[in-house]
Amino acid sequence: MTSSLAVIRPWFRKRECADGIVRVDEPHVHEFLRANIWLIRGETRNLVVDTGLGVAALREEVPELFAGDPVLVVTHAHLDHMGSAHEFDVILAHPAERTDSPVGDTVVGPLLASQLGLSLGDEAMPEVLLTARPHPDFDPLVHRLRPTPATGDLLDGETIDLGDRILTALHLPGHTSGSLALYEAKTGALFSGDVIYDDVLLDDLHGSDRGAYANSLERLRALPIQTVYPGHGDPFSGERMREIIDAQLREWAAMRAPGR
Ligand SMILES: [Zn+2]
Repeated sequence: MTSSLAVIRPWFRKRECADGIVRVDEPHVHEFLRANIWLIRGETRNLVVDTGLGVAALREEVPELFAGDPVLVVTHAHLDHMGSAHEFDVILAHPAERTDSPVGDTVVGPLLASQLGLSLGDEAMPEVLLTARPHPDFDPLVHRLRPTPATGDLLDGETIDLGDRILTALHLPGHTSGSLALYEAKTGALFSGDVIYDDVLLDDLHGSDRGAYANSLERLRALPIQTVYPGHGDPFSGERMREIIDAQLREWAAMRAPGR
């Protein structure tokens, strides 16, 4: 099994977005775990949001993520968002997220599903959530996530100042209890982690809370968001975000309706 995966380098894919924002992801990770790493360039320092799966060395392949005295924000302690957190010096997370003892640490599909409490219904989880290997010595069956304590807390309403741009932390529990998003009022940009992306939202993992999630989505809906830079998939408009939120809130309301 292990040897059947080809070794592919470079492992990371980098794309420039508008407005000094760079998107990095891992094309050879199964789409379930293929998360975005965002770089936001500022005048006095850079901000990195999330770090991918941690199966390859980020600093080696994407050194620009480490330029400009970067502050890393880990949106939540799921393995596909904090894998390479250990490569950074300044790591902020919400105190409700246990980046030092995360739940879920393997790329073996069925094992990860049971660790996270993921119920996929009839959709089988692949044996290994990678379609290639980052280096010849990499064994997906033995690889484990490296737990990494945050170096500081980031609380709701606190800001990160990059000189010419300021991002405000939003504590939006639901997907996990300490999920964070970052909002830039000047541009209406939202870095949303797994709070919202344009696909099925995961609201029933270990640690998920549907009631809190609904409140978090209501809160996002009320903000003048222009562009969402999500934890998974392509950026999308604020208008699309409000459509996703409305559909999700309707679905949860129907689940609570009598007779179900
Ligand atoms: Zn997640």
